[in-house]
Amino acid sequence: MIVGAGPAGCVAATVLARAGVRVRLLDRTTFPRHKLCGDTLNPGTLGVLRRLGLARSAEASGLAVHGMIVTGEGGVSVDGRYPRGLHGRSLSRRDLDWSLLQQSIGAGAVFEPGVTVRGALVDAARVAGVTVGGNGSARPIPARVTIAADGRHSTVAFGLGLARHPPHPRRWAVGAYFEQMRGARAAGEMHIRRGRYIGLSPLPNGLTNVCVVVPAGAAGAELRDPRRMLADALASDPMLRERSAEARQVTDPLVLGPLAVEVPCPGLVPEGLLLAGDAGGFVDPMTGDGLRFAIRGGELAGMAALQALEHGWSGVQARFASMRQREFSAKWRFNRVLRSLVASPTLVGAASTGARFAPGAVRRLIARAGDCDLA
Ligand SMILES: Cc1cc2nc3c(=O)[nH]c(=O)nc-3n(C[C@H](O)[C@H](O)[C@H](O)COP(=O)(O)OP(=O)(O)OC[C@H]3O[C@@H](n4cnc5c(N)ncnc54)[C@H](O)[C@@H]3O)c2cc1C
Repeated sequence: MIVGAGPAGCVAATVLARAGVRVRLLDRTTFPRHKLCGDTLNPGTLGVLRRLGLARSAEASGLAVHGMIVTGEGGVSVDGRYPRGLHGRSLSRRDLDWSLLQQSIGAGAVFEPGVTVRGALVDAARVAGVTVGGNGSARPIPARVTIAADGRHSTVAFGLGLARHPPHPRRWAVGAYFEQMRGARAAGEMHIRRGRYIGLSPLPNGLTNVCVVVPAGAAGAELRDPRRMLADALASDPMLRERSAEARQVTDPLVLGPLAVEVPCPGLVPEGLLLAGDAGGFVDPMTGDGLRFAIRGGELAGMAALQALEHGWSGVQARFASMRQREFSAKWRFNRVLRSLVASPTLVGAASTGARFAPGAVRRLIARAGDCDLA
């Protein structure tokens, strides 16, 4: 049983279905659907999809992204290309997730759209499936293995008391698509400003994805009118004002928050359950690699589920937790350092000087941010 047909759920479903397991994939929405995201697959994430044989659609319809542009206040700017000619891809999550879902159905998973999971079915301290449906019509669906891939505000993980929104950082994101943004290059852009940042990604068909991330305090007042907030963020920014003078917002803004989720004690996840993707924790979209954790995390959850089905649960949770730790912890640490670096205008300024005098160091930073070792 897989809850959530985002990238983590679809990849787990594909891994299991390919191994001959009967997979039910539930999602509360119907697909294709929108999802608020920066829409960029970094080179490493694309590499993981390629290895899994799932990259065809992203390669065919996504725009090549050759690096990252990071700017700070006072006009400082770092323009970094991925090494060895590597590139990522940008495409809307509507298209990416739809293609991953179709591939999991093609592999044999049974997809059930419009099914809302209300919580885990717990039997003798182990998860034995899920409960679905509305008030009065709730029904249990038993399963030998349940993978919660139901995103940042996971009903399953929050319901079992495994996940929470930590007090820090507390940020909200607002995003929409724009037409006629000028000066777009084949790169993701991150414009760091006092207390907030604006991410831009070029998309196919001349669209630009614009996301603004603000702290909780600012969020209350500004989020009442998210459309205006996005327009104001662009119009009041000295580096984006001119570029956005003719820009037109062509989709309704989506709002998400609080963004950060943590699972403080992964060791407490009960038998019968595995957490994948954002349901297992999410910090901040600034580093643009949530999809790497979701896609590789979905693959690891699929592999752990196979072990549990073949040999029982003994040691499975511990091995799954230590695999995630081994694969992700160095990047989590790197992301923490990068986030505190870009939070300081002085350090962004220093990085901009560094880009001129020590381009090798900046290239290494960009390569690491883009997970280029996995490409
Ligand atoms: C503003 C922003 C920008 C980002 N930009 C990038 C970027 O450019 N690159 C990058 O790599 N990452 C980025 N990320 C991170 C990335 O979006 C996430 O890490 C990724 O979507 C996680 O995938 P997932 O499959 O875990 O969850 P999701 O994609 O959230 O999928 C979860 C699915 O579960 C379903 N669901 C939820 N609850 C239930 C329920 N109760 N019952 C049934 N179904 C349910 C939902 O409908 C959804 O389809 C960004 C995130 C944000 C917030």
